Amino acid sequence: MKFTNSSLVVYRKISPNKTSRNHKIDTITIHCMAGNLSIETCGNVFASSSRKASSNYGIGTDGRIALYVEEKDRSWASSNAKNDHRAVTIEVANDGGVPNWHVSDMAIASLIELVTDICKRNCIKKLVWSTNKTDRINHLHGCNMTVHRDFAAKACPGNYLYNLHNYIAEQVNERLGVKTAPTNAAIIPESNPYKEPTTNIRRGTRGEGAKWVQWCLWRFGLLDKAGIDGVIGPKSEAAISVAQKMLDLKVDGIVGNNTRQTFKQTFIK
Ligand SMILES: [Zn+2]
Repeated sequence: MKFTNSSLVVYRKISPNKTSRNHKIDTITIHCMAGNLSIETCGNVFASSSRKASSNYGIGTDGRIALYVEEKDRSWASSNAKNDHRAVTIEVANDGGVPNWHVSDMAIASLIELVTDICKRNCIKKLVWSTNKTDRINHLHGCNMTVHRDFAAKACPGNYLYNLHNYIAEQVNERLGVKTAPTNAAIIPESNPYKEPTTNIRRGTRGEGAKWVQWCLWRFGLLDKAGIDGVIGPKSEAAISVAQKMLDLKVDGIVGNNTRQTFKQTFIK
């Protein structure tokens, strides 16, 4: 396996905190610096061998990208050797503090470009995020993004970045030319807590059956969790139509038998 580094890098300071990589790169792990460090300052932190920490790349609030550990080597970033042997790790600066650890738009834009470049060079065809930790750490359903909090009692990557993972995957996949639904790939079946309806669910329907449908729409990323209110209004109706379009069903905004069976196969365990 031949490893290369990103040409988006504008600053290089190779850290002594690294090991030879023993796995091909098939995972992306995005971290937060928990501070507004410039890429030079972060490089100085990782340059200290007593620090025993590093990452492959760093991104500043200004969007500039640094290389600290070449891709051929495993960084010491995620409190998990196995993960770091297969992952490219990226530290992103925070322009906000606790509890969300906000990240600048420029840093996010650079992050999307960098991850796209990493995927292209390492033949990662599609980026798949899951909000389920078990899926992430076991790489189930094609999931190939992990986070530091999966392996240690840490807030990293912070709530702001954590909540952007789906968006980042979508943006990267668009650049990779992958066709995806808005929720992105893996929709992992779960049990629907509501009772399956036996009649058509349409605008104006109220009750448990409406909730069953809204739960499916929420799983598809088409409705907020607060939208599971047991009343099919214009928002739910529009979401049903979008779901039907994406699932290649007849688009009428009504959940009849056909749509219901497809929802079951797609979203429910
Ligand atoms: Zn971290």
